[in-house]
Amino acid sequence: MRKIIDLRSDTVTRPGKAMRRVMAEAEVGDDVFGDDPTVQQLEMLAAEMLNKEAALFAPSGTQTNLLALLTHCGRGDEYIVGQDAHTYLYEGGGGAALGGIQPQPLELEADGTLDLGKVEKAIKPDDYHYARTRLLCLENTSYGRVLPHAYLEEARARVDRHGLRLHLDGARIFNAAVKSGRPASEIAAPFDSISVCLSKGLGAPVGSVLLGDSDFVREARRWRKVVGGGMRQSGILAAAGIYALENHVDRLAEDHAHALRLAHGLAAVDGVDLDVDAVRTNMVFAEFPADRLAGLAAHLETGGILIEPGKPVRFVTHLDVDINAIDKVIDAVKEFLE
Ligand SMILES: *Cc1c(COP(=O)(O)O)cnc(C)c1O
Repeated sequence: MRKIIDLRSDTVTRPGKAMRRVMAEAEVGDDVFGDDPTVQQLEMLAAEMLNKEAALFAPSGTQTNLLALLTHCGRGDEYIVGQDAHTYLYEGGGGAALGGIQPQPLELEADGTLDLGKVEKAIKPDDYHYARTRLLCLENTSYGRVLPHAYLEEARARVDRHGLRLHLDGARIFNAAVKSGRPASEIAAPFDSISVCLSKGLGAPVGSVLLGDSDFVREARRWRKVVGGGMRQSGILAAAGIYALENHVDRLAEDHAHALRLAHGLAAVDGVDLDVDAVRTNMVFAEFPADRLAGLAAHLETGGILIEPGKPVRFVTHLDVDINAIDKVIDAVKEFLE
């Protein structure tokens, strides 16, 4: 069978043999009763790696972000968030739909940060005309970019000045950690809560963890049950998460190197508009001539290469894409455009 090269997202990774083995052999119990030892082990491991008091295993990153909103904010409260951030744009308006929580989106800066001066201006005065601003949400990495550490610390200082909480959508926090050479616990330190995806580049089939102090996680656990995220013998899934955290963090550096190789290769092809210097972790964004985009995607697909045609096209590297695959993609793009 021909191997598909799927660059649409790092969510497409499939569990390998070793991961499947630990899943099959996982000790399980009913996690809603608090009885699943493997889920508890995953939560302890994640809390240790990110240096937070407690962690909670949930089915998806959409849900862990939602749980953070529901835990930090009440009905009529507000969170400040990037206009293009996942927690605003790509989660179905869950905070509003399920929590009566109003988003205050702000334009992201070119480096993926939110301008903290603009954030402060967006915080509502204590006056009943306004929603109560409770929370600032940041994302790291943001479209593959690593937020500068000094910025995270400054964000903490500013939210403290206004009595806000600080949440990190750290779906890819380990990409940020590996890229910057800074332990994930340091990146997590300024935040009250963090959501981490196990099912992206870390390669688990399902699952995210939400971290914070014990009181926060206790309350989030309550909301997880409310939104239907209480799973039963979920140790089978948690085992994959443990395997991913123990074996697939350091190797993210390979994905970053592959993304850079892909970027250099594509940038050299006539008709491709791509800023190699903007590539930071496992994502490459490239523009193609608009009238050739659909043709390019179809051509790549005949070669077993999957992309999501968009403006720009986002190519995502991950553990099921090796160096040969990268070179095949470059050749296929070259063949079509030149
Ligand atoms: C993938 C992702 C999430 C969560 O997505 P799920 O598919 O629900 O697990 C959250 N934030 C960012 C930035 C993501 O890329």
